[in-house]
Amino acid sequence: SSAANNLFNQANLTADPSKVLFIEDDRQQTYGEFVKRAGQYATALTEKYNIKKGDRVMARVSKSIDTAALYIGCLQIGALYIPVNPGYTESEAAHYIKDATPSLLVTCNEELDKGFRSQINVLNELKLASEASTLKPCTEVEHVDPLDAACVCYTSGTTGLPKGAILTHGMLNNNAHDIVRDWGFTENDRNLHALPFYHVHGLYYSLHCSLFSHSSIIWRPKFEVEDTIKHMKTATVMMGVPTFYSRLLNSPNFTKDVFKNIRVFLSGSAPLSLATIEDFQKHTGHVILERYGMTEAGVMTTNPLNGVRKAGTVGPAVSGVGLRIAPNGGIEVKTNAIFAGYWKNPKKTAEEFTEDGWFKTGDVGFVDEDGYLTIGGRSKDMVITGGLNVYPKELEDFIDTLPFVEESAVIASPHPDFGEAVVAVVVPNDKSVNHKEFEQKLIGIMKKKVANYKVPKRVILLDSLPRNHISKLQKKELREAYKHLFL
Ligand code: ATP
Ligand code: MG
Repeated sequence: SSAANNLFNQANLTADPSKVLFIEDDRQQTYGEFVKRAGQYATALTEKYNIKKGDRVMARVSKSIDTAALYIGCLQIGALYIPVNPGYTESEAAHYIKDATPSLLVTCNEELDKGFRSQINVLNELKLASEASTLKPCTEVEHVDPLDAACVCYTSGTTGLPKGAILTHGMLNNNAHDIVRDWGFTENDRNLHALPFYHVHGLYYSLHCSLFSHSSIIWRPKFEVEDTIKHMKTATVMMGVPTFYSRLLNSPNFTKDVFKNIRVFLSGSAPLSLATIEDFQKHTGHVILERYGMTEAGVMTTNPLNGVRKAGTVGPAVSGVGLRIAPNGGIEVKTNAIFAGYWKNPKKTAEEFTEDGWFKTGDVGFVDEDGYLTIGGRSKDMVITGGLNVYPKELEDFIDTLPFVEESAVIASPHPDFGEAVVAVVVPNDKSVNHKEFEQKLIGIMKKKVANYKVPKRVILLDSLPRNHISKLQKKELREAYKHLFL
C-alpha cells in the first residue's frame, strides 16, 4: 500500500500548479487552485463528516468544477466516490441509497432527499462547498493498493437494473494512461467537456485524459447544441455520444471556423451510425474516432488516432487488452482495467467471468483480419429467428443509410413459428408517410439486400426512438411495446 498508487498521485496533479485546468465561461482555475480545492473537500469530509478510507460518499450533484474537486478529494483520502444521476426522482434515488448504503449523501436536491435523513447524513452540495472554502486544504494523499476501490459506479441500466461496479484505483490509473497515449493527449489540449459527470464517459474517460496529460478542459454544464458550438472554437478535442454529432450536423451554425482547432472528435457509449460518420466527414473532413468501453472494463478497443479508422468498427484492442470472440459470438476481454466486482453481488460477478478469467462483456461481435472489432449489438438484443442469429446492427446500418430514413432499431418479437421474428422500428424522414407503403417499400429493398430470414417481418414507424440520459437506445422498451405483434 502506497500513496503512489492513489489516482491523485498517478495523475501527478501537483506537477504544474500554474497550468490552467478548467475554463468555464470567463473563469479559469489552475491545477494549483484545483488541488487546493480538492484538498479543502478532503479536509471537510475528514474533519466535519468523519469520512475515512473505505467510507462511501454518494454524490448526487450538479455538474460543476467543484464536483470534480469533490471527486478528487474523495479519492485523495481513500474514500469511495459513488456518482448518481442528479435527475433521478426520490424513489429512484432510494434504490441507490439502499443498495450502496453510503455514509454521506451530497446532494443538489436537498428538498427531494431530505426524507433520507432518517437513514443517512444528507448534505447540501452548496453547504459543503462553502464549508470547504474556510478550511485548510489537506495535502496528504492516502495510501492505497491498486486493487483498493476508488468508486462504485452504476452501469447505465440499458439491459436491466443498473449494477454497481467496484472500480479500483489501479484500473482507473491503467486505463487513463492507456487512453492518454492512444488518443495522443498532450499538455496543449483543450478538451470540450459537455458529457454528464456521473457516468464513466464524462467522469473517467474525458476528465482523466485531461488530468493525466496536464491539459485544459472547457467545462460546460451539459450538451446543448448552440452552447457547444459557441465553446468549440478554441477546443482541440471533444468526446461525445453519437447524438452529439448528429445534432451538431443539424445546426446551420456548425461551420468551418467552429471546429478549426479540433484535432479529433471521439465517440462512444452507443453505436455510431454509418450515416452519421459519413455526413460528419463530408461536412467537417473529420472521421469521428469511435471506441468501445464499459463501466466494468474501461475503454477496451479504439480506432487509431494515426492509421485507418474503419467506419462501423470500434477498432482494435487497446494495447495490452486481450480481445477474443467466444463460439456464441460473445465479446470477451482480459484487461488491466477490470473492475473488482459488482457491489454486494459476488454471484453476478462470478457469472460474468469465464473459467479462464476472461470478462464476458455481454456484447456480441466479430474481429476482422486486421484485428478491428465490429459490435453486432448486445447478446440480449440478438434476434434468433428459426434458429438463425441475426445481428441487429447489420440491418440497422443498412436501413440508416437509406435516404428516407432518419434512424432505426431492429428488435426481436416473439413469433409462434420462428421463436422470434425480426422487427424494424424506423424513424422516417417524412413523419406523415403512409405506413403500409413505407413498410412494403422497405421490405422490398431489404429482400434484395439480405438473406430472407433477416428481412423484417414487420416495420413500425415512430417519430423518435426511446433513449436514456446518455443517448443509449432503450431496446427493452421497444421489445416490451411490440411483444404481441405476432401472438
Ligand atoms: P447495463 O449494463 O446496466 O445494461 P450499459 O451496458 O449500457 O448498461 P455502460 O457500462 O454505460 O452500461 O455501457 C457499456 C455498453 O455500452 C457496452 O457493453 C456496449 O454495449 C455499449 N457501447 C459502448 N461503446 C459502444 C460503441 N462504440 N458502439 C456500440 N456500443 C457501445
Ligand atoms: Mg453493461
